[in-house]
Amino acid sequence: MSAPTYQEPVPGQRHSDTAARYVADGARLAWHDTAVWFMRQKRDRRRDDVPEWEALREMAARIKGHTVSRLADYLEQFEANALRLGAHVHWARDAEEHNRIVHGLLAERGVKLLAKSKSMLTEDCHLNPYLEARGIEVVDTDLGERIVQFRHEPPSHIVMPAIHLHKEEVGELFEQRLGTAPGNSDPTYLTEAARHHLREKFLGAQAGLTGVNFAIAETGGIVVCTNEGNADLGTALPPLHIACMGVEKVIPRVADLGVFLRLLARSATGQPITTYSSHYHGPRPGAELHIVIVDHGRSRILGRPEYRRSLGCIRCGACLNTCPVYRRSGGHSYGVTVPGPIGMVLAPHIDRDRHQSLPFASTLCGSCSDVCPVKIDLHHQLLAWRGELAGAGLVPLGKRVVGRVGGWVLARTWAYRLAGRLVRWLVPKLPRGLVYGRANAWGRQRELPPMPAKSFRQQWRDEHGQP
Ligand code: SF4
Repeated sequence: MSAPTYQEPVPGQRHSDTAARYVADGARLAWHDTAVWFMRQKRDRRRDDVPEWEALREMAARIKGHTVSRLADYLEQFEANALRLGAHVHWARDAEEHNRIVHGLLAERGVKLLAKSKSMLTEDCHLNPYLEARGIEVVDTDLGERIVQFRHEPPSHIVMPAIHLHKEEVGELFEQRLGTAPGNSDPTYLTEAARHHLREKFLGAQAGLTGVNFAIAETGGIVVCTNEGNADLGTALPPLHIACMGVEKVIPRVADLGVFLRLLARSATGQPITTYSSHYHGPRPGAELHIVIVDHGRSRILGRPEYRRSLGCIRCGACLNTCPVYRRSGGHSYGVTVPGPIGMVLAPHIDRDRHQSLPFASTLCGSCSDVCPVKIDLHHQLLAWRGELAGAGLVPLGKRVVGRVGGWVLARTWAYRLAGRLVRWLVPKLPRGLVYGRANAWGRQRELPPMPAKSFRQQWRDEHGQP
């Protein structure tokens, strides 16, 4: 078994092409599908434990909707309260400014080793290479993140960064990097080895960096959720804690937090709650807390009502776990930090041309919207993107022609019936090379079902009489 080699995304490469590499390994594909679907099933079981689940989702959606409608006010309230608690607050317009601020804080204090806990925002800003190029060692302390960091690749899932790797592949990696026993891929053994390795890094780090799950305007406090306690150790030992958050992480009141904490872990991993939900109210005595509030394209989303609800995302990953395309194409095929349905909605806001193929990597089945704990209308937003991309002439000619013809046929009952009759009669007579030729991308991995003798309408009429 050999782990897949990560390939850097090439600008302009389409998702279908990058996914094809993953799809070519059928065994890995089936395993990834099963592993990720298992998380979806765990989520379903935990949801069933909570009779008021739908009411919670509704409440979460309303809180996020309200917050976003008054985002500037809540951010200012949060800043004032965080300052009152003794934290320092910085504002960054984009990734470059964010990286500059973080580097400045570290460089001023002579930091050479940074213990970093999981943060999709800093991944998105490419903070690690930025700091490493300036002589600072960055250690990702979340186990899955450390695994992908060892492999010099980004996470393939926002909650389970190394879900694309088998334990045997992690065993081989740790043998090379940590000197573990050859052939030993026992997860407990490997985790223990990682703990010893990381413990040294924690003790040596001069600063800790975390993301922020929730920033509470009412108090100025921040909440960081992890399962490994790495954020806690990473910030409890060194004298400097930097917390990086997107502007959308703010929530109005402490009372709102319970709604999200009940939804987050259940939706993410099927746990009743994350193992550690750590609250930081200002710096601990003798230490510094710097909070970096980052826009990085979020204001653009705020200004677009049809996409605004995507700012409610709490990064639980449930939409990835349920998405049939994500499960069968792997996270790296998207070429962005946040893959899956929410990633396909967010990425074109940053660079529409570069990510023009992403909104098409969906069946529009709506399962993502159904599982989303904050009720984001993901599949509607993907459809909106498709319309926008088509309007801008960014859809390939073949797809445009098929769409036009399909739209014309579907708008006319007689044409639809005639087309059905024609296809049922013609396809079985055509040579296989033609039916499964280059034009039929759908048929590359699938066999068409046998053509039925009668249309669905005729079958219904035969069984039930005239509709
Ligand atoms: S869009 Fe919804 S389901 Fe997807 S990660 Fe965000 S909160 Fe979770």
